[in-house]
Amino acid sequence: MSLPTHFTLNNGKKIPSVGLGTWQSPPGQVRDAVEAAIRAGYRHIDCAWGYQNEHEVGEGIKASGVPREEIFVTSKLFEFHHNPEHVRKAINHSLSRFGLEYLDLYLMHWPVALEPEVKGDDLPLAPKKKANGKPQVNKDLSDNVLPTWREMEKLVDEGLVKSIGISNFNIRRTRALLKECRIKPVTDQVELSFTCPQPDLIAWLKKNDIVPQAYSPLGSTGASHASLKEIDTLAKKHGVEGANILISWQVARGCNPLPKSVTASRIANNAKLVNLTKEEVDELEKAALSQQKKRVCDQSDDFDYDIFEENHPENNDAAQAKLG
Ligand code: NDP
Repeated sequence: MSLPTHFTLNNGKKIPSVGLGTWQSPPGQVRDAVEAAIRAGYRHIDCAWGYQNEHEVGEGIKASGVPREEIFVTSKLFEFHHNPEHVRKAINHSLSRFGLEYLDLYLMHWPVALEPEVKGDDLPLAPKKKANGKPQVNKDLSDNVLPTWREMEKLVDEGLVKSIGISNFNIRRTRALLKECRIKPVTDQVELSFTCPQPDLIAWLKKNDIVPQAYSPLGSTGASHASLKEIDTLAKKHGVEGANILISWQVARGCNPLPKSVTASRIANNAKLVNLTKEEVDELEKAALSQQKKRVCDQSDDFDYDIFEENHPENNDAAQAKLG
């Protein structure tokens, strides 16, 4: 099956089918990683205010010499910036750190809003903590993200961002947003890997014309899936590395993988997609579903807030998907 170089978003804009991830990249190495990626042909960089490296991403883009308009840049609104009056300050802060005038995609990083530690008129730089040391959740703005989303919609109107989307949203939360939003999210960036395949969520998002973006497609730091038996067998058959199989599988299932690396050789290698057969894609899907499901990213315990609602009998994705 031949794989697309781009996915088309529900607003008609195009997003390159593989992007470079930049989370947990050691400070000082992201600039070179971004420059190497763009030189290797990437035109899509995934970043976030919370990664604290937007300035390095901006430097890498400039150093590549490739015109800004040819590169798709994503950043994300952090959890303690959900108060409507902080959204504009947060995007302005991100843009100034990147040294850019607009973003291609701005995501609500998590569906959960944290109470910010406010100091004067400045952009909050930390969450307010409870007596037990955990961040304090703003329940109203978490249970109903619309007031925050409305501010993100205004950023599109004003041209500060070309598209807006969500991240770490399950079906129930996305469905609630779709009922009320004026501008529909173009993507939902979620964990999609061999041990977290999430087929119900993917099918529902695609039905609703929202592109699923695959974070941690290789299993994230220290948990590489590239050497797992099923992956290794296919990699040997195609004469590629396990990472190429994992990344290509996500594209083949209509998802937008964001493999992270700060190693130039891996960055270049990860961009090579393999045309897997339909049978191979189906086999991978079956093998992934037979694994014990394991998430790398879940802050529910940190916040005492059930973000994914996986054990909720009505709100988990399998039950919500049945509602259509
Ligand atoms: P990945 O699944 O992309 O794995 C990254 C790890 O794999 C790094 O340790 C990297 O090492 C290693 N690696 C990269 N290429 C290869 C290769 N060819 N062979 C073997 N190992 C390899 O993990 P992430 O969790 O970083 O996810 C990717 C991106 O998704 C993030 O960087 C971020 O942009 C986004 N993300 C978004 C989240 C959200 O909440 N929206 C949450 C988590 C991630 P090295 O760098 O040393 O080469």
